Amino acid sequence: MASGLLSDCASSSSCSIRLHQFKGKSRAFARPFGCNGSISLPLRNLSVKNCTFASNSTGWSLSAVSSAMTDNASAIIIDGKAVAKQIREEVASEVARLKDAFGIIPGLAVILVGSRKDSQTYVRNKKKSCEDVGITSYEVNLPEYCTEEEVLKHISVFNNDPSVHGILVQLPLPRHMNEQNILNSVSIEKDVDGFNPLNIGCLALQGREPLFVPCTPKGCMDLLHRHNIEIKGKRAAVIGRSNIVGMPAALLLQRENATVTVVHSRTSNPEEIVRQADIVISACGIANLVRGSWLKPGAVVIDVGINPVEDPESPRGYRLVGDVCYEEACKIASAITPVPGGVGPMTIAMLLSNTLTSAKRIHNIK
Ligand code: NAD
Repeated sequence: MASGLLSDCASSSSCSIRLHQFKGKSRAFARPFGCNGSISLPLRNLSVKNCTFASNSTGWSLSAVSSAMTDNASAIIIDGKAVAKQIREEVASEVARLKDAFGIIPGLAVILVGSRKDSQTYVRNKKKSCEDVGITSYEVNLPEYCTEEEVLKHISVFNNDPSVHGILVQLPLPRHMNEQNILNSVSIEKDVDGFNPLNIGCLALQGREPLFVPCTPKGCMDLLHRHNIEIKGKRAAVIGRSNIVGMPAALLLQRENATVTVVHSRTSNPEEIVRQADIVISACGIANLVRGSWLKPGAVVIDVGINPVEDPESPRGYRLVGDVCYEEACKIASAITPVPGGVGPMTIAMLLSNTLTSAKRIHNIK
């Protein structure tokens, strides 16, 4: 699957080496450089080097984080793996409570059509993650050549099964199927992927609340929230406008009062737009597209992209990189998600969280 792309940016590993060093230093509390007084700030999920911070009662502010950049400091590494682990633990403890107090076990049904290796891996990982937190998983594997009606029939069975609280159809579907018909048929109350147009519609409308928000953009927002990164009033650029990541990410940022610009494949001046952004969420699937020179100093970068690039030194012959040239961005951004280990682990964590939410809502449990 290697793409053959290997930019200058991707060819050096200094940045990832830095990440590994910092991981070892991450601890429950750390005293940041440059703080007035002698307060200690919670560093639950971060790895930090040479950053200048200021804190308020709610935690770190973006401006405080941004000030680190004036001292030419390295970006905070937003450790999605650690945050996802914390979320899975929270979900597991709530699932246990539901079981003990009400005898309810949340259930997630996954429908896989065809035999794509990547889809099989995703489904396997989802199933394993469900088991780990005590959610029951139901799986239907259908052959590539099955009919749309067969898929719809299984969805209908799960829609009516009270032990199933979430239904997920693994995408992409074979070409002969109408994806829209299939996603529309998932009951809005069990649409844990948030792809039903009614859920997306509610996300887009002011004053409406979707029952579910798509997992990957929800994970991006959760990373921003858990790191106390201010969104209101900030300029944000979202690179990519897909239905599953870019578009809902832009809507979520806008709902939290960011001023959002969406950059896509036909945008004529992407660098110029991205350079104005305090928050950048990139989901275009192009390795190292966003260079350090595209970023505003102190910007917060959430890199959704997962892109294979050739790497003869890797046993697989390739490795995964993001849309953002990590090595360059680390020097300009105030905070950044690595790839892998950033947004990726958050997606499944959000799926588990959505399934739990669904079970509680269906059974009217607070
Ligand atoms: P997609 O192919 O559906 O959409 C890509 C988007 O990028 C399109 O809207 C397109 O307009 C835009 N784009 C293409 N070229 C561009 C360019 N040169 N400049 C700006 N925009 C451009 O992809 P997707 O499903 O949204 O996924 C995007 C990336 O995110 C992929 O690398 C994918 O693997 C990754 N992804 C990661 C997770 C995760 O859990 N971390 C989940 C979903 C997708």
